[in-house]
Parts: sequence; C-alpha cells; structure tokens
Amino acid sequence: MSEVVALNDNGHMPSIGFGTWQLSDAEARKAVSQALKTGYRLIDTAMIYGNEAGVGQGIRDASVAREDIFVTTKLWDDDLGYDLAFTALDQSLEKLGLKYVDLYLIHWPAARQRLQAWDALVEMQNQGKIKHTGVSNFTQRHLEELREHSDVVPVVNQIEFHPYLFEQQEALLHYCDEQDIIVEAYSPLAQADLLDDPVVEEIAEQTGKTPGQVLIRWAIEHGTVPIPKSGNPGRIAENFDVFDFHLSDDAMDALNGLSNGERVTHDPEVHE
Ligand code: NDP
Repeated sequence: MSEVVALNDNGHMPSIGFGTWQLSDAEARKAVSQALKTGYRLIDTAMIYGNEAGVGQGIRDASVAREDIFVTTKLWDDDLGYDLAFTALDQSLEKLGLKYVDLYLIHWPAARQRLQAWDALVEMQNQGKIKHTGVSNFTQRHLEELREHSDVVPVVNQIEFHPYLFEQQEALLHYCDEQDIIVEAYSPLAQADLLDDPVVEEIAEQTGKTPGQVLIRWAIEHGTVPIPKSGNPGRIAENFDVFDFHLSDDAMDALNGLSNGERVTHDPEVHE
C-alpha cells in the first residue's frame, strides 16, 4: 500500500498519485475508477484537461469513501484574479460533482494577477471549499515572491521531474524542502520517453522491476510525490506496485546522471 506524506498545514497526502492529462471524459472515468480500485488515493486533474466531469464520475463509480480520496484540480491562467478564481473553482466543483477539492493549485505562474489568485485560494480554504492550497510550475523566484506577499506557504509545488531534468530541478527541490513544500513530480516517465533508455532498462533488469516502476521509485526516493498517468489497466496497476523495493545509491546516481535538460512541457522561467 502507498504511504502518506505530511503537509506544512498539518494535513497529509498520499505518497503517489494518478495523473489524468490527455484522457477524455470517458477515458478518465474508466481510468480513475480503475486507479481507485487498484489502491491510488490521490487523483490529479485540471480545468484545462477538460475531463473533470469524467474524473468525478470515475470517483463515484469506484465507491471509495470521499474522505479517503485526495482530489486535486488546478486554476488555469485565464482565471488568475481574485473574483475569477472563485468562479473557476465553482465551475470545477460542479463538473467534478464534489463539494470540495483536497488540493487546488495555481496551474502556472502566469504574470497575470497570480498573487490575487493566491489570496482567493487562501479564502477558499477558509470557506472549506478546498482543503489545501498549492502551486504548480513555480520556480524559486515565484515561490519567494509568494512568500513576500502571503503568510500562507503552499503545501505543494507540482513540477516536471524525471531523470532528464534532475540537475535542472535539484536546487528547486532543495529550496522546497527547506520551505517545507512537498514537490509533486509530474511527467515522471517523461511521457514514456525515458522508458527505453538503456540505463533505465538495465536498472529494471537488475531490480526485477519494469522501467516505469524504476522511474516512479526514483521520484519517491528523491522525496517527491509522483503522479504517473496511464489509461491502461495493466500499466495503472504496474505503476502503483513500487513499494516493495529500493534503488541502490549506484542506481540513483546513474539515473541522476541522465540529466540532459529535456522537458516534456515548457520552462516556466521562459514561458511566464
Ligand atoms: P507520464 O510521465 O505520467 O507518462 C504518461 C505516458 O506514459 C502515457 O503515454 C502512458 O501511456 C505511458 N505510460 C504510463 N505508464 C506506463 C508504463 N508503466 N509503461 C509504459 N508506458 C507507460 O506523463 P504525464 O505528462 O501524463 O504526467 C503525469 C501527470 O502529471 C499528468 O497526467 C497530469 O495529471 C500531471 N501533469 C501536470 C502538469 C502541470 O503543469 N501541472 C503538466 C504535465 C502533467 P498509456 O496511457 O497508454 O499507458
């Protein structure tokens, strides 16, 4: 079974999650239900994925108690602003068919009114519409700006994190650790690009696990919470089966050494 990690606001979240980007409503419904039956308890979606309704149906199909599921959705760039953020959350809750989400993230540090949007998230938490507040794709500069502005520290920074980006993200990982912010690792498989890397394949053979499991374990051993996505029942189960082994220091070093700066999404320092 997966474990939980402690959040800086005294809450907890599961140590692995299920991603849903690029799943349609119908696909998300099936995959989320399957993931919950497999044992995942953290489900990650976003308004911009266009599948919140399917995610909500998948949650209801699985018949797992609501309080046992940690649902994340995200506030998109167009809705960055104090009033806009409230409207956006209400729309997301309606599509999800939920009274609250566990974690609401500012999806991207777009320049437009991100600080006002943060104030809205803090108020939503006071109102009980969201349990925890967080951010995504924030660099250290964005986090420092937020710290200057607000006493409320995000519980999570969800960023792209896999071996190709290790060196690029290492300083941010340390900064988040110092600030007691959990890093969620998105695209932990580099959207499957890393799965046939010879180094990953060799470690998979040595450990008797699959390349996907090795990459997910690597993210966990760096103290992050990975959120792999799959629409395939076999791979949904495979990606969750990562709590019965560890990676040696040599294996971690070899994976860290794959850093080449390749991203599957944008660099938030360039695309603000
Ligand atoms: P992932 O790194 O999770 O890779 C997903 C891809 O890998 C899919 O093509 C999937 O195909 C394939 N795959 C999954 N598991 C396996 C396996 N065991 N063996 C072989 N292939 C596999 O990429 P994502 O970009 O989807 O990242 C995960 C989640 O992170 C997203 O779904 C989303 O929730 C979140 N995210 C957040 C972002 C942000 O800006 N905050 C940006 C990007 C992602 P198949 O479905 O056929 O199995």
